[in-house]
Amino acid sequence: MQIQTLLQYQSPLGVPVEIKKQTFNCARSAAGRPVKKISFVAGLHGDEWEGLYICHLLSRYLQDLKTTHAESFLGEINIYPAANPQAVCEGTRLTPFFSVDANRSFGAGGADSLPEYVASDLFEDIRSSSDLAVDIHASNQRLLELPQIRIVEEFDLSLTPLASECNVDLVWVHPMAGVFRSTLAYNLNKARVPALVVETGICLRIHPEFCRQVFLGLVHLMRHVGILKGDDSLEFSVKKPRVVYPREVGSLQAKKSGLFVHQMKLGQNVQEGEKAGEIIDPIQGRVLEEVRFPFSGMLFTVCENPVVYEGAPLARAALDQPAGK
Ligand SMILES: [Zn+2]
Repeated sequence: MQIQTLLQYQSPLGVPVEIKKQTFNCARSAAGRPVKKISFVAGLHGDEWEGLYICHLLSRYLQDLKTTHAESFLGEINIYPAANPQAVCEGTRLTPFFSVDANRSFGAGGADSLPEYVASDLFEDIRSSSDLAVDIHASNQRLLELPQIRIVEEFDLSLTPLASECNVDLVWVHPMAGVFRSTLAYNLNKARVPALVVETGICLRIHPEFCRQVFLGLVHLMRHVGILKGDDSLEFSVKKPRVVYPREVGSLQAKKSGLFVHQMKLGQNVQEGEKAGEIIDPIQGRVLEEVRFPFSGMLFTVCENPVVYEGAPLARAALDQPAGK
């Protein structure tokens, strides 16, 4: 494995901030022949640490494999474990000082500020290092997510078959929205580098069982596209995800502001009308809302932060029946 500093800039006290990249090559790429390349990116949002741990599991496995089964490497693997190191150190979603979302800084064309300039160089490095890329995210502070891959509808045909090989529980094909235009994955897909977005767990936490599930999925993906040969050091079965389209996703929202107390579990199958929990008023000692599911389906998002405002998302489900039927 080689570790390169692909980008460096100076912090106000002179300590360098560095974006590092790990590369694992096969013997043929050392001889200069083109091979298939894959990249894994984590930590664009500095408070999403599930991806850093998934990159760690990948790196550890690949380092062991290099020593025991070097012939298993058929392509090039690049890992960017902390793509926004300043934000990772602070544990913040946004880049400190600039308050910029690093995953809304791609594709603008200009490079007038440090974050734009970093995004532009990082994008070019990832694009030129990838025939396929995976950008790993966790959820925000409120919602806990089952391991899933999200795909913008226009890339459904090329990405869904790849996403289905990643051992996730769910592939969610969703409509395009303006905010995606400046994301890493959208711009890679536009530049004809297929890019998958993994969403798993919740920010500021690490869920080892979800991380291991995604790690195994990414190993399987590399075997599936011919970057790694299967080896007997790691055998596992791969989950086939449920693929859902916009009308097949149901959302439960709070009707009142208060504290949401629930017993929902990720992956649970629920029925329409079943009780999800209560929204309570801790000051007056009253129950404000008895929350019931407006759908039947499998929960893939649940609210983890009990403080909710009216309209806040409480859960999302892959519906048993598409909405409107
Ligand atoms: Zn994120």
